[in-house]
Amino acid sequence: MARVVIIGGGMSGLSLAYYLKEFRADYEVVVLEKETTPGGKAHTKRLHGFTIECGVNGVLDNKPSTLGLARGLGVEILPSNENSKRRFVVKDGALVELPDTPKKFLKSPLLSISGKLRVAYEPFVPKYSGKGDESLASFAKRRLGPEAYKYLIDPMATGIYAGDPERLSLKSCFPRVHELEETYGSLIRAMIQLARQAKRERSGKKVGAGPGGNLVSFKNGMGELVGALEERLKAQGMLRCGIEVLGVECLDRYKFKVICQNGQEIECSHVVLACPAKDASRILRHALSDIAQMCNSFDYPPIGVVAFGIRPKDVSLDLRGFGFLAPGCEHRSILGTLWDSSIFENRAPEGWALLRTLLGGARRRDIKYKSDKELVDITYRELKDLVGLNRAPELVVVHRWPRAIPQYTLGHEDRVEAIQKGLRQYPGLMIRCNWIGGVSLNDCIQNSKELAQAL
Ligand SMILES: Cc1cc2nc3c(=O)[nH]c(=O)nc-3n(C[C@H](O)[C@H](O)[C@H](O)COP(=O)(O)OP(=O)(O)OC[C@H]3O[C@@H](n4cnc5c(N)ncnc54)[C@H](O)[C@@H]3O)c2cc1C
Repeated sequence: MARVVIIGGGMSGLSLAYYLKEFRADYEVVVLEKETTPGGKAHTKRLHGFTIECGVNGVLDNKPSTLGLARGLGVEILPSNENSKRRFVVKDGALVELPDTPKKFLKSPLLSISGKLRVAYEPFVPKYSGKGDESLASFAKRRLGPEAYKYLIDPMATGIYAGDPERLSLKSCFPRVHELEETYGSLIRAMIQLARQAKRERSGKKVGAGPGGNLVSFKNGMGELVGALEERLKAQGMLRCGIEVLGVECLDRYKFKVICQNGQEIECSHVVLACPAKDASRILRHALSDIAQMCNSFDYPPIGVVAFGIRPKDVSLDLRGFGFLAPGCEHRSILGTLWDSSIFENRAPEGWALLRTLLGGARRRDIKYKSDKELVDITYRELKDLVGLNRAPELVVVHRWPRAIPQYTLGHEDRVEAIQKGLRQYPGLMIRCNWIGGVSLNDCIQNSKELAQAL
């Protein structure tokens, strides 16, 4: 009988175990998680009536994976508030609303007239003729112009990857956008043709190069989904927390020995590395040193999350909205702030607001040398300036991710292919984590479901 050991109890590992139970009930499956609680980057703190996300904030409902998993576990889905569709970007030190329709785009002060004309010129820009991977920054400047790059595309890279668009690979980070240029030769032309097609087919499908969909979460935050998975898997004896895996020995194509820190050794037919690339590298360093070295090359910049519980009257701006992102060209000390209590109900107690600021990322790695107090001071200073916060917050929570989100930088696809090729000698040894196949929770869960079906 197949015995599967999943190393890592983040959402990739947990959902894989859940779906293996569904599709392969006869397999013996165990998830080993080194922390005492599972969930990885999906982690919620509940404090004095505030629900504070340390990592994942929500998922888009246009992909069925996370919602399907939640329904399977009986976890009720919480839609975001209507006003959270208002998103802001920092421009010249002030917040400017992101236009979400062509009409609003024409009226918006976000781009100058020449910046807008440059965007309108996009259909006449030839397709990429360079060799190899193109960076997100190069693509955006080439197709949409430097201004649109700075104020539309750069914040998107910050919002999803906390990344540096000059180093991110367009093809690996935004495969759909890359495909639209390949197929239609222009993003605007693609939008028009796809909109016509949707109208013809009366599908009502929203058309866009962006991710689309509405943001959703759960009443008690992402921790509710993690908790439901934990309960289900523990009841079936499939999850063991507080067990760090030190190494894997490859005895045969379908025979492995998993070595744990507590001295335990588990023999199995399949091993799935559902842990970050750096951890996979450490685990494989003796058995497959070449692959281990390749895994070690993935970049994970740090992120700090600073949550403030404030009174709404303590800010001068109207905080009804999603929050704001600060483009790199604005040289702010924070990546942006989410107005969590405006996005989802019940994130703060009655009469309070919750603001969650992210710092660090690929362009501000220096946060790792700053104390929590320094992060709080920076956040306070920036929020004073940007949203008119005029009183010190009454609740402060800091959470750090020393290695937060894997960066799909130039050459990502080749690196992943080289690793997968190396692993083909051991078909029972697999990788399933967010550094392959997409960083969003939706992608992680979808990929885990597909692996469970294929395994
Ligand atoms: C600040 C932040 C905000 C985010 N916001 C969003 C968002 O709003 N929406 C969204 O879709 N995505 C978001 N993401 C991305 C999303 O969180 C992740 O891509 C997803 O949760 C990753 O899950 P995973 O299981 O693949 O990896 P991880 O969550 O990294 O899980 C890996 C697990 O492996 C364990 N592990 C490591 N080494 C070992 C070992 N040797 N032995 C045993 N266990 C080990 C770790 O402890 C961890 O639990 C965010 C990420 C961050 C950091």
